[in-house]
Amino acid sequence: MGVFISQLKLDSWESGLYDMRIRLLPEPPTSGHIEMIMVTSKTVENLKGLPTAKEQNLLLKSLEGEEPLAVLYAQNLDELQGTNEEKLAFAEEAQKFTNLFMISQDLEMKGEEGKLKLAAPLNTIELFPGPRTADKVVLALDEVTRRMMLTYQDRQMLHPYIAGIVNPEVTSKKNIRGVFEFFDSEQVYISYRKAGTYPQTSFEDIIGRKFEAGRFKNKIVLIGNDHGGSVRDYVKTPFSKDAKAMTLVELHANMLDTLIQNKAPIQASPWLNVIITILTSILTVHVLFTKKPVQSLTILAATGGALLVLGAFGFWPAGYWVKMAHPFLAIFLCYYFFIPYRLIIENRRSWEYYQKNKLLSQVEELKGNFISMMSHDLKTPLARIQGMTDMILKDTQPLSSTQREAVDTIRHSSDDLLKFISAILNYGRIESQGVELHMQSRDVNSLLKDVIRKHEFLAKVKRIPIEFESEPLFPIQVDPELMKQVFSNLIENAIKYSPEDSQVRVHSEERDGKVVVTVADQGPGIPQDEVTNIFMKFFRSKNAKSSPIKGSGLGLYLAKYFTELHQGRIFVESTYGKGSTFTVELPLEQGRSHA
Ligand code: ADP
Repeated sequence: MGVFISQLKLDSWESGLYDMRIRLLPEPPTSGHIEMIMVTSKTVENLKGLPTAKEQNLLLKSLEGEEPLAVLYAQNLDELQGTNEEKLAFAEEAQKFTNLFMISQDLEMKGEEGKLKLAAPLNTIELFPGPRTADKVVLALDEVTRRMMLTYQDRQMLHPYIAGIVNPEVTSKKNIRGVFEFFDSEQVYISYRKAGTYPQTSFEDIIGRKFEAGRFKNKIVLIGNDHGGSVRDYVKTPFSKDAKAMTLVELHANMLDTLIQNKAPIQASPWLNVIITILTSILTVHVLFTKKPVQSLTILAATGGALLVLGAFGFWPAGYWVKMAHPFLAIFLCYYFFIPYRLIIENRRSWEYYQKNKLLSQVEELKGNFISMMSHDLKTPLARIQGMTDMILKDTQPLSSTQREAVDTIRHSSDDLLKFISAILNYGRIESQGVELHMQSRDVNSLLKDVIRKHEFLAKVKRIPIEFESEPLFPIQVDPELMKQVFSNLIENAIKYSPEDSQVRVHSEERDGKVVVTVADQGPGIPQDEVTNIFMKFFRSKNAKSSPIKGSGLGLYLAKYFTELHQGRIFVESTYGKGSTFTVELPLEQGRSHA
């Protein structure tokens, strides 16, 4: 894509960006070696017509003592009015100047040398080709002169010759900055100043000798028209596309000054353009596919800005003209070309996500239904088993010791199974209907006492004393049944997972506006990688699963769920192998919103 874009012809855009730089960046100062003499509409009014040969003669006479370095006519002397004698006198006066030329718009081809001549008797005045080159090929079709010829078919043009008088460095083409080949000529770009930058004096002021002596000494004097009589005397510029934007004379002044100062802009290598274009294309596509829409727009706008700054800094002060149209187009084209792809990808992703979600919720529902159905159907036969075992145990007929042992085992196992089924049923109900809180003002210590009492038997069997350290607490708003389930689960786990002859400590206190209950045991502890999972539904640790300790993996999940309904918090601190401490924090002041 980038390579393709860099091959497009974008001359009009490029010239626009080039001109923008010329317009916006500070203008370099002039060399101060150029003076312009203008035939204005006022001159025509005063002289009652365009200057004749006689008046041109007077002009040269006024300039003679000033010893200018060169006198250049940007006027067509073939159109000069006057008698033969007057013209001859003017031509003779012209011979007194060392570098007096008329600037020719025409070129001499190889083999035609000497054909460019003024008509007699002005044929002693030399015509020197210094054409203006409308940019119909290099930059755009807008007829703005942005470049000048140094040579044509190896013949030197006027401007480098004249500039060489002031700055001998540029007499050798090797030393001229920014030279490029164009067909049969060598050229440079013009370093432009705005119209009206170069000093100018009116024709009649010169013949009336109304100028301070020495003004034209060692200057290059350009003579031309600014009377508005012909569009041929004007040019368009990078500053303005108006047909009369600048006088032809001042264009020549700009050309000469570019060479005198030897500051023509250098066009950066086309390779640089290709590379920058490819890089911007890659960046655009990358940003488009990896960043969020607003982010990618910001990044691309910043890239555009950076390109402008790069272009501006290249041009000023370094004098490098780095092309910018292609990278800019790359940003736009890549953006609009790839945005549909991005939309398609995103649409597909959200569709897949939606489908997966739908499937997941169906599975969840099925699971829920299955669990509650199954557990319900299990409960009835189980109740029957329990009823039968109770009957056997209560029977007056004594049982043999093996029989009694077998019936006891049946009784215990069915108890375990019932607990398990109840837990699952409980969970199923909560999942499908949610929980309603029945808040009452209760002392958490009394709830804890109830729970501990219930577990004393189990603890005694394993010879685990439950130590209860309580600080007096204010009653708080809780759902006693749910909170009892929470504490019951923690205490039951502590006893269940601890070895015989260890100890469980329950502690309660008020701290930082909260009731804090901790249940600590000296059991196996929880491995670090499982700590974050134990509050997830159905999660059982690897050790628990491989041990004979029974459980559903729902206890802690529900404990967390119920605690959070109370706007509380539950967490565990555990050292693997040394024991665990579960903490429940309940706010003293209940918030208003309950599930
Ligand atoms: P279970 O029915 O398996 O006890 P819980 O949700 O109550 O389910 O606990 C989840 C897991 O957390 C348990 O399987 C166990 O591995 C671990 N666990 C809970 N309490 C303790 C404890 N006091 N000591 C060690 N591990 C515990």
